[in-house]
Amino acid sequence: YFSQLEGQIDDCECSVNTVDYFNNLKIYPRLNSLLLKDFFRFYRVNLERGCPFWPDFKRCTTEHCSVETCSEGQVPAGLSTEAKNGKESSAHKYLKEAQNEEDCDENHGGLGAVDRTLSEETKEEFEKWQKYDESQDNFCETEGESLTDVKYVDLHRNPERFTGYKGVSSHRVWKSIYQENCFKPDHEHGPFTTSKNLGELCLEKRAFFRAISGLHTSITVHLCATHYTPSKTGFGSGNWGLNVPEFLKRFSTDQTDGEGPDRLKNLYFVYLLELRALAKAALYIEAQSFYTGDDVEDAEVKSAVTELLSIIKSFPNHFKESVLFPGKDEETAKLKEEFRQHFINITRIMDCVGCDKCRLWGKLQTEGLGTALKILFSGKLDSDLKMPQLKKNSFHLTRKEIVALFNAFGRLSTSVYQLENFRKLIKS
Ligand code: FAD
Repeated sequence: YFSQLEGQIDDCECSVNTVDYFNNLKIYPRLNSLLLKDFFRFYRVNLERGCPFWPDFKRCTTEHCSVETCSEGQVPAGLSTEAKNGKESSAHKYLKEAQNEEDCDENHGGLGAVDRTLSEETKEEFEKWQKYDESQDNFCETEGESLTDVKYVDLHRNPERFTGYKGVSSHRVWKSIYQENCFKPDHEHGPFTTSKNLGELCLEKRAFFRAISGLHTSITVHLCATHYTPSKTGFGSGNWGLNVPEFLKRFSTDQTDGEGPDRLKNLYFVYLLELRALAKAALYIEAQSFYTGDDVEDAEVKSAVTELLSIIKSFPNHFKESVLFPGKDEETAKLKEEFRQHFINITRIMDCVGCDKCRLWGKLQTEGLGTALKILFSGKLDSDLKMPQLKKNSFHLTRKEIVALFNAFGRLSTSVYQLENFRKLIKS
């Protein structure tokens, strides 16, 4: 099946080999070291929202599922102060121009241009509409910002890996994602949309399925690549490493009714989608200050991000988002909104994942993918990629969205890299 994995990536103008080469040699090593930096390592998340769909939802309490949240002293000073002041909500604040505006505001007794001309009531109304307008770009629900439930998690100390979460609970989540939230050909009554009936869907609906299936593949590759084997003697802590039989069980052609190679190809599809989103938002992202309170590290991160994004921009066969939702007609707008609502629902389902560790990474990765979709399809970055235009269009990403996007892409990049390791082991 590794030979079946070669060649063109479905619905893209790029081959598996090109991604393997580009990722494993250029992207993966750089991204991996970047994600160890404080700015990208600390993720603010609410793991206590509870499942909105199933009243019998239960949490799994095994050791591998637990998540260690940060105490106040463990979070870099710049990040925790920023969160307390509510500044995190908009990464836009970090733009140099915006900072200048804030300086100006001080000169006018703390009131900006808009504030000075509007009455309090109109201002409130304006802010409400601005928020509403921005929420229409989003492919994820914004988390309730109640300070007691939102915690920082050090992602490095809580790695995504095998947890043992399986059975009815995890199947219910995947089933709901594929059966109720992915699009299906109208007459299809089977339990899951599969690669076999995908051809009956339009490009946009196929892309939706491929992105979700690719994310599912990535999660599976991780749990096979960092799998746990208890120690034979029953003493000691056991070993974490690549588990080839587990990988074969989940991806070989004969054990997956022929679906394995297509599922692996979907990983490459979602990789290309997020890669393109990073390239498209590169100018916006490069303009952030990556503030954590440590000037030296912040400057290092900024220059490493710029270097990484310039490599990403040089990728030869980017995903072409313009072929999706091409028309300006009502029908296309309706399809796009349906696509957005389906995806938002999937981000809600993540609160129904019974294992805390899986929920953490599920939430982060769907938020990262949602951020990529926002970059590609909100339309705010299409007209011009120059800074003044960005400001005019009020395109926003929060720090949380940027952190989620980079880490989600980091997971996909690691999965592609790990496939190479499985390939070598299986061939030898
Ligand atoms: P599952 O992976 O549960 O798949 C269910 C069904 O979906 C399969 O029978 C198949 O029909 C179909 N399917 C499988 N793969 C694909 C694909 N790529 N595309 C389309 N259809 C597919 N476990 C961990 O150990 N660590 C984790 O970090 C982790 N994170 C998770 C995050 C989420 C959001 C969820 C829902 C589960 C997570 N799990 C994790 C559990 C893991 O995904 C599996 O559910 C579990 O290992 C049981 O696997 P399974 O072989 O029964 O098939």
